[in-house]
Amino acid sequence: MTATRDATVDRRRRNLGEALGTDFFFVRDQFTDEQWQSFIRTRRFVDEEVLPVAADYWERAELPWPLIRRLPELGIVGEDIHGYGCAAMTPTACGLVHMELHRGDGSLGTFLGVHAGLAMQSIALCGSPEQRARWLPDMAALRRTGAFALTEPDHGSDSVALETTARRDGDHWVLDGHKRWIGNGSAGDIIVVWARSTEDGQVKGFVVEKGPDGYPDGYSAEVIGRKGSLRSIWQADIVLDGVRVADDNRLADAHDFAAAGRVLANTRSICAWMALGHATGAYDAVLTYVSERRQFGRTLTSFQIVQQRLVKMLAELTGMQLYCMQIGRLADQGRLSPTVAGLAKMNNTSKARWLIAEARDLMGGNGILLDHHVMRHMADIEAIHTFEGTETMQTLIVGRDITGIGAFTAGAR
Ligand SMILES: Cc1cc2nc3c(=O)[nH]c(=O)nc-3n(C[C@H](O)[C@H](O)[C@H](O)COP(=O)(O)OP(=O)(O)OC[C@H]3O[C@@H](n4cnc5c(N)ncnc54)[C@H](O)[C@@H]3O)c2cc1C
Repeated sequence: MTATRDATVDRRRRNLGEALGTDFFFVRDQFTDEQWQSFIRTRRFVDEEVLPVAADYWERAELPWPLIRRLPELGIVGEDIHGYGCAAMTPTACGLVHMELHRGDGSLGTFLGVHAGLAMQSIALCGSPEQRARWLPDMAALRRTGAFALTEPDHGSDSVALETTARRDGDHWVLDGHKRWIGNGSAGDIIVVWARSTEDGQVKGFVVEKGPDGYPDGYSAEVIGRKGSLRSIWQADIVLDGVRVADDNRLADAHDFAAAGRVLANTRSICAWMALGHATGAYDAVLTYVSERRQFGRTLTSFQIVQQRLVKMLAELTGMQLYCMQIGRLADQGRLSPTVAGLAKMNNTSKARWLIAEARDLMGGNGILLDHHVMRHMADIEAIHTFEGTETMQTLIVGRDITGIGAFTAGAR
């Protein structure tokens, strides 16, 4: 064995049970300094501060505020937005940050996804310069938290048909309708609400602000309880009953549903990174576990079938990493299409579900205990599989691209 191969094997052994032990294709060699710094900062935070407490917050269904408050200190709030105190990361660095947060805790990662990936990006992509300057600095510092209210009780996958209305009344708009599943919808300060204008029938974005006296009249939000996934971030059912917002709070460049679509196209690729984080966390945990667990007088790792299952898991994990690096590169170059982002989300969430279920099984009864983390990943990946376009929706998006036929509605073309 050459000295280089010796060192490689040695490094992998040293990193057994850690995320870097999964990097068989040396993906990390391709990180730039900026990407490496964002990645390693987040990774240390996750290992030292998130993993020790994540299961407890999850079990109590409690928002992890001490961890949330650390995010601006780490310089990872604000995605790729430049200025206003935002993180100004490259898309690949953003992906690495989300991957690492989800390796630790899907709820914390989803909090950042909603606050920065959805709410801040709505303002950055669709707001006027004055609106960006008004809201983004406080959001970057997490002095104010954001929410993105698109889904409705009767419109999830077909949110394009949303029914919440916005009626102009002088220099104000009056919002009426219902929203469902809105992350931070009961605790957030800046709620981006997507509603259909009664003037032109088009969907537009409105910012509903929580002031010193709470939400405006007519806004009420109730936390959705009894959740079995992402338990330590709260989603809300929202009722909008004649909520008045100033015309200044209508996002200046959101003229139709395509505006919401632009925001979601960004976050779809982030979901692929999130899934990779969950899968990596589960793989690490199971590899550590089977290396130590003895049955029939030997460690589980000494059985051929166990090795085969680990190798198959690693093969899928490696595929997910390569998907992520390439969508990161394409996004860095401004070449990532919604179709490719959808393909990556579909691939990675479905592979992650399979891999995590394998890990759970290989841990036997202990696999269902929160102490070993895998059960939490298994529950949390379900939400990521569903939100921002289900696996089926992503399949239909890619299917339309390769066949030229839109199969979203019966008989549609
Ligand atoms: C934890 C969590 C957090 C969320 N956070 C937010 C948030 O912050 N803001 C927000 O606006 N929304 C949020 N959502 C909502 C999320 O985006 C929706 O749940 C998602 O789009 C799916 O909609 P639905 O739940 O209504 O399912 P449905 O649309 O009712 O789908 C049910 C099933 O039918 C399938 N289906 C639907 N249409 C078709 C079709 N044409 N052909 C074949 N199959 C089809 C779907 O793939 C799915 O399997 C969140 C959801 C969850 C679970």
